[in-house]
Amino acid sequence: MTGWVNEAYEALQPYVPGKPVAQTKRELKLASVIKLASNENPYGPSPKAMAAIEQALSALHDYPDADGFDLKTKLASKLGVGYEQIILGNGSNEIIESLARVLLRPDEAMLFANPSFVAYRLAAQAMGRRVIDIPLTPDHRYDLEALLQAVTPKTKLLFIANPNNPTGTYIAQAALRDFLQRLPEHVVAVLDEAYFEYATAADYPNGIELLPLRKRLMVLRTFSKAYGLAGARVGYGVGHADLVGYLHRAKMPFNVGSLSQVGATAALDDTDFLLHSKQANAREMQRLVPQLAARGLTVVPSQANFVLVDFHKPASDVFAALLRQGVTVRPMDGYGMATWQRITIGTAEQNDRLLAVIDAIGL
Ligand SMILES: *Cc1c(COP(=O)(O)O)cnc(C)c1O
Repeated sequence: MTGWVNEAYEALQPYVPGKPVAQTKRELKLASVIKLASNENPYGPSPKAMAAIEQALSALHDYPDADGFDLKTKLASKLGVGYEQIILGNGSNEIIESLARVLLRPDEAMLFANPSFVAYRLAAQAMGRRVIDIPLTPDHRYDLEALLQAVTPKTKLLFIANPNNPTGTYIAQAALRDFLQRLPEHVVAVLDEAYFEYATAADYPNGIELLPLRKRLMVLRTFSKAYGLAGARVGYGVGHADLVGYLHRAKMPFNVGSLSQVGATAALDDTDFLLHSKQANAREMQRLVPQLAARGLTVVPSQANFVLVDFHKPASDVFAALLRQGVTVRPMDGYGMATWQRITIGTAEQNDRLLAVIDAIGL
């Protein structure tokens, strides 16, 4: 039966998440599965976050702090921004949705690059709003000139993931600064820095430092990746207090649970864990990439905790072959990349298993 719900949802293709390890094991009757499909932290959650969450369990009968005072206070001081410049989300995904809901009027459009994070497209489509996507360059980078050219008076919202997902490529400091200065004032630019903590390039920009460049700019970060708290669902946005104020009007009162707030606050102090996550990722990236290349696969240089890999064979076949051996990755055929997979950088042991499986099945 169609025709009785908001029509934006008739055509909406829902987000397809990576399957949980337990489900893959169950369905394929596999004894062990490694998940390199969702860019989670392979070293687990921050130990300080876990300890703080245990301590907080006895207050679970109370509603959370609707404003997130402790977490926002700590973030404000760490980032050198005002308290009123921060909004917390149920993952940064919630803020992406909220931006589309609050900003896009019926005749206004959202602009983004393709391939990039599908949540941007879904957020605008759920609102029934127009989406304009600009292809990446042949070397998988943002085509900043083409993005500027695509802006019309009706372009309200622009999403840029830096580093980009699923490519791992990044926009350097000078180019991004120049772009943000040339972008017409009426466009709200959102810099999604979900992988900020992993980036090692000397010219990788810190979006927070770019905030003074324009009023209509928001930086998104998350506790889901380097802090190891994807299951807690905490992300945040930083921007001009005006924009943040409107986003607060749209948010559910208790959008971030108390255990999640406590865990994220503690994780911010866990500099040992963060450093370990970053260094181990960089070390494994340096080891894995040449090993994949030595097998004839094409690997895009990445600043994140995943790599985009061309197996030169149909993505669904490669995905299925790896899955039968208990390794899950993310096939990219749905992103118009017919022979590519996105693979999360795992622990040394996981990466060795990936390479062994690739050799065993002759990919
Ligand atoms: C993983 C990821 C996020 C994080 O989403 P959460 O809702 O915070 O878990 C945001 N943006 C991009 C590009 C990502 O890859």
